Amino acid sequence: MTTSIAANQDKAPGEYGVRYGDREFRYHLCHLPSQKKASIRVHVHPNGQVQVDAPESAGLSEIKAAVQRRARWVLKHLDEIEERNRYVRPPQWISGESIRYLGRRYVLKVIEAPEQRKTSCKLIRGQLRVQGRNLNPARTQKAVGQWYRERALDVFQRRLEQMVDTLPWTTDRVPAWRMQEMQTQWGSCSPDGSLILNPHLIKAPTRAIDYVLLHELCHLVEHNHSPKFYGLLDRYLPEWRSVKEKLDGEAELLLQRPKDHL
Ligand SMILES: [Zn+2]
Repeated sequence: MTTSIAANQDKAPGEYGVRYGDREFRYHLCHLPSQKKASIRVHVHPNGQVQVDAPESAGLSEIKAAVQRRARWVLKHLDEIEERNRYVRPPQWISGESIRYLGRRYVLKVIEAPEQRKTSCKLIRGQLRVQGRNLNPARTQKAVGQWYRERALDVFQRRLEQMVDTLPWTTDRVPAWRMQEMQTQWGSCSPDGSLILNPHLIKAPTRAIDYVLLHELCHLVEHNHSPKFYGLLDRYLPEWRSVKEKLDGEAELLLQRPKDHL
């Protein structure tokens, strides 16, 4: 029911573990219609998520054996990803840093304004200007975080309104939704049909936001990750796989989470 960032932290059905020597990893199993793919295939996504595609006819023991045979290869890839993410440094919240918004980068500018009671945050000509008195990194971070949430509320609502117009099952009503900071999911859809969206998603390109919204809206009719569910994604956003892969590849950067979360 979720748009997972790293599926190995999410106890969704279709999650399995593999042991190799003294190491282990988890993978997400996707059943594909038999006519589409004849063999069991193992992928390591750029965010470290391991996905196994198997035809519906394949038995679990057959799948497990196939993953076991690829375990060394998977672990090698996971090590490379960890190495790469070691260089994602947490922001310092000072002037000159890069701030991401809707897939673009803006320069953060912290402006001391002793006469200004309330800290303001505005996007002006390629700069995100935080202005106020006694600004320190913690206050700047708070102001930018608040600005991100306001932008996210506005953008997510507008994209949802546009999307429900195009989907036959949502009529013209935007389902109830709220924001929640999450480290392992971009969004989720609860059984009562309300959506939870990760405000960090506002840093990603609009297309990636649309993918997450569509993913959750498709769960209103297909409450699982069945071939029917993926059929809906294919129909309404044919390039969703590449959009998802790119989004997941940037997860560390967008979430600024410590690397031990991987
Ligand atoms: Zn889902």
